[in-house]
Amino acid sequence: MHTISMDHAAQALIASWRASLQDAGDDALALLRTLATDVPAGLAGHFYAVLLDDPRASRYLSHDQVRQHLQPSLQRWLQQLLTTGPDGVADAVAVQRVVGDVHARVGIPVDLVTRGARVIKRGLFEQLQARAARPEVAFAAINCVSAVIDIAMEGMTLAFSHARDRSARTDSAYRLFSLVQNVSTERERQRALLLDWENALLYAMASQRADPAQSRLSDSEFGLWFTHKGHPSFGDSSETAQIAALLKRVDARLPDALTHADFRVRMRALLQVRKQLEQIRTLLGMLFERIGELDAGSDALTQLLNRRFLPTVLRREVELSNRTGAAFAVLLIDLDHFKRINDTHGHDGGDRALQHVAGLLGQVTRGSDYLFRYGGEEFVVVLVAATVDHAVSIAENLRAHIARSPLTLASGQVLSLTASIGVAAHDDHPDYEHLMARADAAMYQAKKRGRNQVVLASDDLPPAPERQAQRR
Ligand code: GH3
Ligand code: MG
Ligand code: MG
Repeated sequence: MHTISMDHAAQALIASWRASLQDAGDDALALLRTLATDVPAGLAGHFYAVLLDDPRASRYLSHDQVRQHLQPSLQRWLQQLLTTGPDGVADAVAVQRVVGDVHARVGIPVDLVTRGARVIKRGLFEQLQARAARPEVAFAAINCVSAVIDIAMEGMTLAFSHARDRSARTDSAYRLFSLVQNVSTERERQRALLLDWENALLYAMASQRADPAQSRLSDSEFGLWFTHKGHPSFGDSSETAQIAALLKRVDARLPDALTHADFRVRMRALLQVRKQLEQIRTLLGMLFERIGELDAGSDALTQLLNRRFLPTVLRREVELSNRTGAAFAVLLIDLDHFKRINDTHGHDGGDRALQHVAGLLGQVTRGSDYLFRYGGEEFVVVLVAATVDHAVSIAENLRAHIARSPLTLASGQVLSLTASIGVAAHDDHPDYEHLMARADAAMYQAKKRGRNQVVLASDDLPPAPERQAQRR
């Protein structure tokens, strides 16, 4: 649904862009094209200088790699805006989407981006006024470039907010997942606790030994769970609001009902309470069902974290590290010659091997580290609070541990495994994709150097070749 609305929005941007080009006329467009040859370099530098004045911006821009890349890519971006003809508009709009995605990943505030656009616009207007042969041409060119930059910003912002929504959804799915680790167990446990409370109430009423102060549903184990864990993890919804209201209603009636002298009044109250409890159970069932639909947070085969939570974890670690200076690192682990393992031992044997390695990962890392199944026979470990040296030594332990822990299959066959591991430590770059790309390049080197080894990422390693879509 989102993709359709994104495409729809992109079509509208493409149409407006083309209309602006048409309105501008040939002279104005020719003038814009002349600007493209020499103005962007200067403007990119100016843009950079203005934005670096803002401490928030310098956080994103001061990294060496960003500095090296940003100016040239900003320059290319501007050149494209100034020279795109009607046929190139669709591609140009697609570029804005990519830029917006990067901004979202890095978390650049939108106001900084629009301020950047303002700086650039002003620079372009000055140039156009100075260079135009006639004022009407300057006017038309200014109109056009102003519309084009606005359209580009709109495309970027669209992708930005779309990506942000998406990651907010994954973030909250992850929160739910980590709070309510095992959905079905938790559901049964809470149902049982609710039933316990109901039985205790029944008994108390029958024996007329009820103490209203001690029987409140809100204070029961179920009530406490709901208020402190259930409600925050499910989030606000009409179901959680109704459950909260029902808890209150039950507790409001209880003192009178419990102690009433007339048996029939007590019975009526009890029936009423049981009806309310039934409602709570139904609502709870709906809430748990919905978490189930969010699809499990862990990979079904290995029980490690699903890779879709990797951005959530990395974004948080990058943020934490930039704020507190805490080091962290990632290991990218790819099992060696896994196709051969499948060929020799069958796909089931391969699956067993993946489970086996997942178990080994748990033995060599700490509980605070994150273990992901990254793809078919690839794993990612996020080592929190770990320096480069730690990370390399953990990777080396892991490599050795895998190599000396063969798996014995049910058939009695022994299956030896090795892994190639790429290590990359966070280097203050604000984009976690940069970190993953470095780990990938290092892992690729480990393969090239003969497998069963650990390679630490460094800037002189060639990037890993593009992977096929084998990953899930
Ligand atoms: P290399 O040492 O270069 O990594 O060799 P490789 O054979 O491991 O090559 P590659 O990484 O390209 O292939 C991975 C293979 O892992 C492909 C696929 O048959 C297998 N595989 C992927 N996912 C699964 C899975 O869930 N279960 C099993 N049994 N095999 C899988
Ligand atoms: Mg692989
Ligand atoms: Mg492999």
